[in-house]
Amino acid sequence: MKTDNPLLNPYDVPPLDKIKTEHFEPAIDQAIEEAGKKFAALKSETSAPDFANTVVPLDLLFIDIVRIQLVMDTFMGASYSDELVAAEERISKKISAFKKTVYQDEALAKRFKAVAKPSNAEDKTLYKNLSLTFEGEGAFLPPEGQKRIKAIDDKLIGLCSAFVDNLNKGTKQQAVLFTNIEDIAGLPEATVSALRKNAQDAGHKTGWMVIPERLQVDMLLEIAENQNFRQKIFEALSRVGTQLPYDNEPITKDIQKLRHERATMLGYSDYAAYALARTMAGSVPRVNAFMDAVTEKALPKFEESVRTIQAFAANNGGPRTLKPWDLSHWANRYRQKMFDFDANKFSEYLPLDNVTNGFFKTAERIFDVTFHENKTYPRYHDDVRTYDVTDNKTGAPVGIVYADFFARDDSKRGAAWMSQMQQKLPGHPNIVTLNMNLLKPAVDKPTLLSLDEMSTLFHEGGHALHGLLGTNTTHPSLQGPAGAADYAEFFSTVMENWPNQKECLDSFARHFKTGEVLPDDLFEKMERSQNFFAERDVLKVIQNSRRDFAFHTMDPANYTTSKALEQSADFQHPFADHIRSYPLNRWQHPFSSALSDYAAGYYGYDWSKGLAALGYEPFDKKGAFDPDSCQRLAKLFSYGVSREGNHAFEECHGDSLTTDAMANALLKSIGADRSPRVSLAGSRVALG
Ligand SMILES: [Zn+2]
Repeated sequence: MKTDNPLLNPYDVPPLDKIKTEHFEPAIDQAIEEAGKKFAALKSETSAPDFANTVVPLDLLFIDIVRIQLVMDTFMGASYSDELVAAEERISKKISAFKKTVYQDEALAKRFKAVAKPSNAEDKTLYKNLSLTFEGEGAFLPPEGQKRIKAIDDKLIGLCSAFVDNLNKGTKQQAVLFTNIEDIAGLPEATVSALRKNAQDAGHKTGWMVIPERLQVDMLLEIAENQNFRQKIFEALSRVGTQLPYDNEPITKDIQKLRHERATMLGYSDYAAYALARTMAGSVPRVNAFMDAVTEKALPKFEESVRTIQAFAANNGGPRTLKPWDLSHWANRYRQKMFDFDANKFSEYLPLDNVTNGFFKTAERIFDVTFHENKTYPRYHDDVRTYDVTDNKTGAPVGIVYADFFARDDSKRGAAWMSQMQQKLPGHPNIVTLNMNLLKPAVDKPTLLSLDEMSTLFHEGGHALHGLLGTNTTHPSLQGPAGAADYAEFFSTVMENWPNQKECLDSFARHFKTGEVLPDDLFEKMERSQNFFAERDVLKVIQNSRRDFAFHTMDPANYTTSKALEQSADFQHPFADHIRSYPLNRWQHPFSSALSDYAAGYYGYDWSKGLAALGYEPFDKKGAFDPDSCQRLAKLFSYGVSREGNHAFEECHGDSLTTDAMANALLKSIGADRSPRVSLAGSRVALG
């Protein structure tokens, strides 16, 4: 039956040019209704429960809901509006209510438990995932317990949204006004006018106002020359979420208690144990072993770098002892002077089209696929470009990429991301989106990418490839790029390695005016400067993860204040203040949603870096496009998330996966594997 709702009519590629906000909710309603019928049939099934008649249909139950939800998510990222946000909220509530109905159903849970555990690898993964979902929703608890889980979840949702709200309002509350021209020394004109506009918007006739958002403050700490300015914005950022009426202290305390209660009800020692059971790392001690191994070498290296930067500052008119708000600035100046690397010059060799094609070419060489632009697909915006991906061996279609690279008005989400628009299913091609927020090209100049932007494109491209290629499974929910973040981020992070290789860069980097290839000396300067002080970021993640774990492992009876907890987890080291950036009460990651992936999951940033460094080692030894290594990596991508991560990695990497091996690979990749040199004679630093 044909309807007016394009989401309810058959299609292969979603008719993005016809879909409107009002189409989503009726389509989801219908999908939930259909799923409800299948659910009723499934739980009243009388034949003896087995994998085929219970687990498989359960996995397929949500397939139409997911199909519509993925299209909606695409629009949420690409062209959101108040109406769409409101619809999405209603829809999310409906879906989560239906999920609870299914996964808290006693009869179905009983049936599921009676299924014999499967033996083949991907069936095992599916069984484990669903088992954890039942468990997490409280399906195996008595009715009283189930009710309590529901109540806790409702409270956590409220607390987390209050936490985020306090951060948003607290950020504005802590805005700092500067009135002396000396305060803003060193800031580029565009930043100065943005700060002036902030001041005017807040009703000040003169002056410049900093609203202490984290990324903006990080950027300003690097470039601002005035120490007083830096100290003020650093301290303002640290106060966000800590002062009335936007003080998060009582909220974090409640969250701590409720998450602990929820986890112990389900049989775990604490929330971290509950969360880690759903990840690749698997347990807190294993992550700690990894982090300790990294710290052992990264910390002395960090100490060495800080001493070097401190001496440089002292010799160039800076403070003798660097405060936390000074370090980024002097590190930046030291880097510029020491490595003489001109990042803008490098950018001139990175026009967007070259980098995009370079990414495609790289993927073609590693994974034996081909990318071809195909302009016939429906799009939601003229900026979007669409590409067919084909398997070179079989000629079969792999999927479609929607590339949406330019910034638009407020209707497009910020930063960069990849998302799946459609899973690969019979009659439905696999579709992924690749999104950035680059400036549109000027008339006489193409969009030139910075090194960071190129790295981001390859990172998101890695997620996209995992989505495109990770379909070697019979179970739709196990297609890439889903799954636990500590594993999922491997596939994106490992791809960041290629544009750092001259061989790869030479295939696409061309000067936008002259067409010449990247000069060797510019490449070498980039290489030398790239890892300078990289250990600081790695250690910041570890410091934050220690707080994260302390928070999520502590017995609430022992929890007094967030400050006390922070101190119990903090590195004891003379320079440690330089790697502490998040007081708990202004740290959004673990508190952004009830059971946020980052709650006891922040370590994932370093874990996936370590895994990616280890995964790239064979290429490092045998060449960026070594055929055997390419094949192994392609196999790992093809699994999606259908195999247990550790096993899949070991199988394809051909070596056992230890936390020491990961730590060593990570340290080597940032040049922190060698024992620190004593580089300072007195306090003078020789500058080349
Ligand atoms: Zn990522």
